[in-house]
Amino acid sequence: MAKKYKGPAIGIDLGTTCSCVAVWNEQNNRAEIIHNEQGNKITPSFVAFSDDQRLIGDAAKNQAASNPANTIFDAKRLIGRKYSDSVIQNDLQLWPFKVIAGTEDNPVIVVNFKNEEKLFVAEEISSMILTKMKEIAEKFLESEVKDAVITVPAYFNDSQRKATKDAGVIAGLNVMRIINEPTAAAIAYGLQKRDNCVKERNIFIFDLGGGTFDVSLLTIKNNTFVVKATSGDTHLGGEDFDHRMVNHFVKEFKRKHKKDIIGNSRALRRLRTVCERAKRTLSFDTKASIEIDAISEGIDFSSSITRAKFDQLNKDLFQKCIDTVKSCLDDAKMVKDLVDDVVLVGGSSRIPKVKQLLQEFFNGKDLCMSINPDEAVAYGAAVQAALLSDDIKSVPNLVLRDVIPLSLGIMVKGDVMSVLIPRNSSIPIKTNHVFLTCVDDQSIVSVMVYEGERIIASENNLLGLVNLSVPLAPRGLPIQVSFAIDTDGILNVSVEEETSGNKKDITITKENGRLSTEEIERMIQEAESFKAQDMMFDKKVKAKNALDDYLYNMRKVMRDDSVTSMLTSIDKMKINSAMIKGKKLLDDKQQRETFVFVDFQREVERIFELALNKINKGYSDEESDSD
Ligand code: ADP
Ligand code: MG
Repeated sequence: MAKKYKGPAIGIDLGTTCSCVAVWNEQNNRAEIIHNEQGNKITPSFVAFSDDQRLIGDAAKNQAASNPANTIFDAKRLIGRKYSDSVIQNDLQLWPFKVIAGTEDNPVIVVNFKNEEKLFVAEEISSMILTKMKEIAEKFLESEVKDAVITVPAYFNDSQRKATKDAGVIAGLNVMRIINEPTAAAIAYGLQKRDNCVKERNIFIFDLGGGTFDVSLLTIKNNTFVVKATSGDTHLGGEDFDHRMVNHFVKEFKRKHKKDIIGNSRALRRLRTVCERAKRTLSFDTKASIEIDAISEGIDFSSSITRAKFDQLNKDLFQKCIDTVKSCLDDAKMVKDLVDDVVLVGGSSRIPKVKQLLQEFFNGKDLCMSINPDEAVAYGAAVQAALLSDDIKSVPNLVLRDVIPLSLGIMVKGDVMSVLIPRNSSIPIKTNHVFLTCVDDQSIVSVMVYEGERIIASENNLLGLVNLSVPLAPRGLPIQVSFAIDTDGILNVSVEEETSGNKKDITITKENGRLSTEEIERMIQEAESFKAQDMMFDKKVKAKNALDDYLYNMRKVMRDDSVTSMLTSIDKMKINSAMIKGKKLLDDKQQRETFVFVDFQREVERIFELALNKINKGYSDEESDSD
């Protein structure tokens, strides 16, 4: 079968806290993780807005403490969810930025950008991070990149997947496929350790990141990867551990200084940053210290924490990880002794206590740490992108069979969930079921589609509604309902009545927490205008820097007596006044267009060069300079 895509195709691990991009390298026969402009292989998933510019990645994270209300992170926790969702309601208390309920209960992020209030949905913030990752790849490849595979946690539901795909579209990417993060990690593992995989091997992927926890059990044989079961928690990771430590120090501060820093978002942001650092230290040391100057009301705060204390603060969360591992194995009906390799992925899998508990759970088995936990997901995504791409020949022909994380079905009489596709079914998949109408002379059949594991349909997550007109008939009229899940894990539902030939496919509407085509279109245009604004900002900075350099050199020349003694007093005055004006212009906080700086520099150059030329020509003629 011919592949659809041409040109370089990248793999993007769009993480809650950090993102990573990779591309298949034909020469070396391996995927390559791409550095950003700071030389880092991972880029913080942060976007910040200031009085004069938008920042993404390291630059955004670095200024977070001084601009907390306009520095956005955790977009992945918001994406594809409703504002009233309990997860969002809990997170709201911790975020230093403002999130409000928009239309149809969609969460909307409010920032102040260039002194104006601006609203964004999570898809837009994620699209900005994706744009950044795309640009990092383009710089490295020295060519435009259009196609990408983006990863999502295996536990992401239908609307979170669809919303992530929308974010890719807003970023101007052609999203070739959405794949599950643990599956991507398994591809990376499988490729790098292929010698181990000639016989069938059961691989357990344990991915504990910044905001999400994901586990999957896969079977690898030769080049075929089959996901057996997947489980996880979309709200468990490094940030929760940081949060526990922050709370611990907030209490300590209160005890020591009789002051509460809850509500002081700048103090909390600074504390969070040092706690995150201390947590990393505790992964290789048994004690870590923290120090913050003037955290609140001029008080300096310094303290320390032991690894044992950190473990105790997070005991229940670490245990939750192990419980999830157990439930995944139960789902796959596999005893733990049959697991051949336990692969650690995600930054938080470096925590010693987590490793210890996991190793104990697997009866002392050595954990596999040979693949880089920060890079494995992007690596696997790049392999998948290469597999889908027409130009790339060297990638081994892997076969991938993934599963859906939640059961899909419809509501039948009595608010009962009738499952059409059970969770952990391999995708792509298609099924047909015939349902009978339950009322005489029904003119419309309403099919409500849900995902989830509850028997009471309305307790599950409503994905959509299909209304189909049917001919009047006694009850018992057969209605055919078909579910099809594509390789991205996205569902398509169609409902058909045979005698009339009436048929309807599900329309993915806003009710599902998704964006309409018009909204996506508008956001694409906005993303482009942002890009243009960023470029304009860049131009302005360059113009200001050029003017600054020029004035600096001018000042240097003007300090040279051998030059100044040759200048006429009028020229000297003109030059001095131009230098003062220039400095004022550069120091002035008022926003000015780029041309103001460019024009001013031209003007100064003219004044200066005219004056110097006179010296070079060896005469001074004050009259000839008459403007
Ligand atoms: P995500 O994919 O969710 O963005 P990552 O897998 O990139 O997350 O992991 C980021 C998380 O890992 C952060 O919470 C970070 O603090 C944590 N982390 C990174 N290195 C370490 C370490 N050495 N010890 C403990 N936690 C770490
Ligand atoms: Mg991750």
